[in-house]
Amino acid sequence: MSMYHVTLSGVTKAYGKQKALDNVDLQLKAGECVALAGHNGAGKSTLIKLILGLIHPTQGQVQLLGHDAASRAASQVRSQVGYLPETVALHPSLTGTETLDFYARLKKQPLSANHALLSRVGISQAAKRRVGTYSKGMRQRLALAQALLGKPKVLLFDEPTTGLDPASRQMFYEIVTELRNQGSTVLLSTHALAELDGQADRIVVMKNGQKIADGTMSELRQQSGLPIRIRIQL
Ligand code: ATP
Repeated sequence: MSMYHVTLSGVTKAYGKQKALDNVDLQLKAGECVALAGHNGAGKSTLIKLILGLIHPTQGQVQLLGHDAASRAASQVRSQVGYLPETVALHPSLTGTETLDFYARLKKQPLSANHALLSRVGISQAAKRRVGTYSKGMRQRLALAQALLGKPKVLLFDEPTTGLDPASRQMFYEIVTELRNQGSTVLLSTHALAELDGQADRIVVMKNGQKIADGTMSELRQQSGLPIRIRIQL
């Protein structure tokens, strides 16, 4: 398999005349953490959905773990992809354990690892409580546990730390570090570049569906033409 877990080549996604993504090239290596920045509507969620194979490109190709993400063959590797959407639908009357067991069955993963996973995200003490009683931070931790089921090689996080308390945020970045050390690839979209603090190897900046920058924090500091709200966070 190539050294890249994810590759986008000349990818355009159009909705009618509007291009949500416009001729984007992107390569994500094993063990790399890449942050995806840009204003609302820049194309971040579209990019994540294309990698997941939930939507297909109008033009160009998305490769996921050696397969065309739009192909049938990609369904075999999709179990190696963890996804944390911006908002996760969790059933309030299920307990933490029941929720994770439900997702494990859905993903055809053994339930035996679930207790350790709940400990890892710091909610094992609340595992028998109904999710309806959880705080926002606890719900987000449970959603993260769901994304980690089956030790995925590729993790896609959509605005993972928005509205999170500082302790949950710190735990989130600790887990990102572990994932990178295990050789997993992490792509996370964010409005909060400032909080990354060295966690991302690279930052990709999107604007109007185009990739306008791709580099380290210090490389981006040298670059002109970035949106002001991004520049002030570098
Ligand atoms: P946000 O931070 O608000 O989620 P984003 O960077 O993720 O923004 P996208 O959701 O990828 O942006 O949207 C990119 C553009 O494509 C937007 O202008 C959006 O209105 C448009 N778009 C996205 N999905 C659709 C759709 N299903 N139908 C029509 N237009 C869409």
